[in-house]
Amino acid sequence: MSVKKIAVLTSGGDAPGMNAAIRAVVRTCAYHNVEVLGVYRGYQGMIEGDFVELNARSVRDTINKGGTFLKSARSKEFRTPEGRKKAYENLKKSGADALIVIGGDGSFTGALLFNEEFNFPVMGIPGTIDNDIYGTSHTLGYDTALNTAVEAIDKIRDTASSHDRMFFIEVMGRDAGFIALNTGIGVGAERILIPEENTTAEELLADIEKGYAKGKTSNIIIVAEGDKSGKNVFQLKEYVESKHPGFDIRVAILGHMQRGGAPSCYDRVLASRMGVKAVETLLEGKSNYMVGVNNDVIDLTPLEKAIKGGSKLDMELVRVAEIMSV
Ligand code: ATP
Repeated sequence: MSVKKIAVLTSGGDAPGMNAAIRAVVRTCAYHNVEVLGVYRGYQGMIEGDFVELNARSVRDTINKGGTFLKSARSKEFRTPEGRKKAYENLKKSGADALIVIGGDGSFTGALLFNEEFNFPVMGIPGTIDNDIYGTSHTLGYDTALNTAVEAIDKIRDTASSHDRMFFIEVMGRDAGFIALNTGIGVGAERILIPEENTTAEELLADIEKGYAKGKTSNIIIVAEGDKSGKNVFQLKEYVESKHPGFDIRVAILGHMQRGGAPSCYDRVLASRMGVKAVETLLEGKSNYMVGVNNDVIDLTPLEKAIKGGSKLDMELVRVAEIMSV
């Protein structure tokens, strides 16, 4: 059966570049004379039949905007067979015969179930700042988040240097250290704590003491949300202070500022390439793939593999970070 109308939605945490990906899907469909249905609020909007017909002109002025104009949501109801059935019936009624999901691994798990239950063609585009998806070297929003974090931490460093202060800076990354490790190297951090490593507070303290002995006067320590020290940034500060009451230590949590903002040029181009590939793969009659980029080539990974593949953090980067903080 040839695809005549493609539905597109954004799901899970928003990420810069999602708008650019929706735009790319819509324009590729227009190019191939295929209709497009926008689904508001991810799977929840599918369950509620909250749809909008889109055309090439509906996505003007969106490539440069953060967030997602289709809005995103987390839907508990879609986790149930009844919820997915409602979603399927609405989608069928709308005339859509394929679905593109822009989101993270949870969203892909939902898409795969939807395909298994209703034999409905699905494609995934990885949109999450965490970069924690197997099968692509970059997820949409990751590059922008790195640049946002680096810009913010550079500013904090000015104060750290001027006042000989130590800063514990928490960046996003519950399960993956991509943001922490790359921003850490990018800002010249003295130490980086990531979920993939088991650094204890004692080891961290020993490294800080070594740094001071070597003549360091200020310290930027990057901590991923999900680091394994067993202490959050405030507890780490208290711990180091308890051993060195003379140290001037501050904490900064970058938080949601990392998720927003205009996408970087890299993310805009990546979103455009991924959108084209997602639509054209569906038009070729294929399903259940995630579009990814590897060595700057756009390719496909089975959704199942993308979900289960696990972390791809480059441990050589950990070594580079260690050397840089000598
Ligand atoms: P992020 O990386 O930003 O967290 P994500 O796509 O992994 O993005 P989730 O909240 O895990 O975000 O998933 C988004 C939505 O996908 C959920 O709210 C739910 O509707 C659907 N979903 C996730 N897991 C499943 C599942 N096992 N079965 C059915 N639907 C699911």
